[in-house]
Amino acid sequence: MTKNYIALIDCDCFFVSAERALNPDLIGKPVAVLSNNDGCVISRSKEAKALGLKMGEPYFMAKHNHANIIYARANHELYQKISDKVMNKLKSYTDEVEVCSIDEAYMLLTGLKRLYKKNYIEIAKMIREEIWKELKIPVSIGISSTKTLAKLASDKAKKSGGIFVIGEAKRKKILAQTLISDISGIGNKLGIKMREECIFTALDFVSRPEHWIKIKFHKNGIDLKNELNGISLFGIKKEHKRPISIQQTSALKEFTKDIEILEKALIGHIRKASKKARLEGGKASSIEVMLRNKEFMVFCEKVKLNVVTNQEIEIIPFALKALKKIYKPQMIWRSVGITLTNLVYGDYIQDDLFIKPKVSNEKLGKVLDVLEDKFGKGIIKIGK
Ligand SMILES: [Mg+2]
Repeated sequence: MTKNYIALIDCDCFFVSAERALNPDLIGKPVAVLSNNDGCVISRSKEAKALGLKMGEPYFMAKHNHANIIYARANHELYQKISDKVMNKLKSYTDEVEVCSIDEAYMLLTGLKRLYKKNYIEIAKMIREEIWKELKIPVSIGISSTKTLAKLASDKAKKSGGIFVIGEAKRKKILAQTLISDISGIGNKLGIKMREECIFTALDFVSRPEHWIKIKFHKNGIDLKNELNGISLFGIKKEHKRPISIQQTSALKEFTKDIEILEKALIGHIRKASKKARLEGGKASSIEVMLRNKEFMVFCEKVKLNVVTNQEIEIIPFALKALKKIYKPQMIWRSVGITLTNLVYGDYIQDDLFIKPKVSNEKLGKVLDVLEDKFGKGIIKIGK
């Protein structure tokens, strides 16, 4: 089994850092960001922390107690924009990035060593420096073999120069120094239960036998023990990018001039593409039919659908019409294909106010009959 190298990248006092990225005069000064609704402190620079400003302190008290701190009202739109830039920067190193909050992301470093010809600490250093240089956002990076340990490492990184690695050699020592309640995912309730069982440190926990943990803390307890022991159970959950188009094409079994063969192949591609669209939850608002001749010349026809759909039965009539437009009987063809384009998803699908009514069932029935007459029963099945 190859060893994982997982990093947790965490922006330091993110809201304050974002304000500073916009206004560099604030760098080095005590700054706090206040929530919009009730005016409580929601982010503090380390200078503000050092002055004793508390998280959650109401503004009327804070300004009285700490008049020399600069207070900014939260600008969440700005924070989201900067967060997107940080996350995109991370994704420029690898697509194995899991954004877990506005200012935190897990990243799989495994494999990057060869790509960048640097060790993992040097890679973390490079990421940290580039994010600072380009976006003026300071980040802390924790590295270890599991997500749970990487999170713990990032907490330590904040207090120790920005980068911290929990390798196998010092893992046990660190677990012995870490309160179990400081492990991510251990809430108050679980923390109390652990204390009742005389588990105080993370090492106390992993030292308990598996069967005992199973009885007391069930599967989650076993998972936690494994993760703390460096056995990675939780992978990077990449954000699934929803496609804006779906293409389906392939070479014909043999070259042909016959439009019926092309039609049959095209229908097969439409069925596959529609199925993919349904799996993604997307609906096409236009299509593109493509024919490629023996000499690799490509002929395309784009069609705007009068419905947004992922049903082959609604797409086929448009596609066959488009095929006829580009088909030339004298040419020899090697492939045919369909692209469902301008895919729309869920909330973005316009309602019927703006889109003409769907092809009526009667019309669909006729299309089905024609197709079945031509290609045999079962050529089309209505998708779910
Ligand atoms: Mg943070």
